[in-house]
Amino acid sequence: DGIILDIRNLKKYYPVYKGFLKKVVGYVKAVDDVSLIVRKGETLGLVGESGCGKTTLGKTIVRLHQPTAGELRYRFKNGEMRDILKLNREESFQIRKKIQIVFQDPYSSLNPIKTIYESFDEPLRKHNMGNIAERKAIISRLLESVNLRPEYMYRYPNEFSGGQRQRICIARALCINPDVIVCDEPVSALDVSIQAQVLNLMKDLQQEFKLTYIFIAHDLSVVEYMSDRIAVMYLGQVVELAESSALYLTPKHPYTEALLSAVPTPDLNKKKDRIVLKGDVPSPVNPPSGCRFHTRCHLCQDICRTEMPTLRKVKGTDDHFVSCHLVETEDAT
Ligand code: SF4
Repeated sequence: DGIILDIRNLKKYYPVYKGFLKKVVGYVKAVDDVSLIVRKGETLGLVGESGCGKTTLGKTIVRLHQPTAGELRYRFKNGEMRDILKLNREESFQIRKKIQIVFQDPYSSLNPIKTIYESFDEPLRKHNMGNIAERKAIISRLLESVNLRPEYMYRYPNEFSGGQRQRICIARALCINPDVIVCDEPVSALDVSIQAQVLNLMKDLQQEFKLTYIFIAHDLSVVEYMSDRIAVMYLGQVVELAESSALYLTPKHPYTEALLSAVPTPDLNKKKDRIVLKGDVPSPVNPPSGCRFHTRCHLCQDICRTEMPTLRKVKGTDDHFVSCHLVETEDAT
């Protein structure tokens, strides 16, 4: 049914220590019970304010963080869905290359004392991707696919501009044939004038290499441009999930409405009323009771303070889910 990743009840908690003896006094619930499916070939956007857990979720998916609980089911070549958190060492090593990440900052993601060739060759060697000549051919091809000359492989990162470096990072993520790439704010450190160029290149590469993207960003217009579906996160949880256009045209969650109201529209006749959120994001160590958004929600009712809403399908839709007591949803199955 086209699902490549099935994330189930994923949690990532970080202990909070206090004092000389480093006593655990609480947990930062960075990702708190997230369930999402990712379809093969799609771009799933993850948005939310900083601290909402989107980057932790992305890093947990690529296993840079070990989750506290939950399952990460991945579709293997033979069609089987298996929890990649329960694989043996060898299987785990093989699967790591299938899910790669591109980070926000192209300046720190490349080792300044290594040539581009050395940076690419390391993962290629680790995964036994051919002899020297074959590996060089792979690197040349990848550099060409991100519109850079093959001979650039002998240069050092400081010889490139920010946009070129990010293109190099994208090419490096591609070198061991991944299926899924987690893109963690890939253009937010770049000059606005070259952001579109890198985003378009990423779209082309997605077609060419049949990639699935999980695209993390705080910039809603960038996410809309890139994503087929979007998950909105707040305090470690997904509060709304929908196709990109449905989310933008008919947002259901008050938090999504507030986020969207802050995005400027090019059409001056369609001026939107900006919804200004009250206060700051509460601490993820002691999230509010009931609906986590209730301390900032202008529609808050009594029930919102005591009962936590769950992500449910919005009535009359196929693929629009929301976690809010006030939205009419279909009964949980
Ligand atoms: Fe607001 Fe209540 Fe809906 Fe939470 S459940 S978003 S507090 S209306």
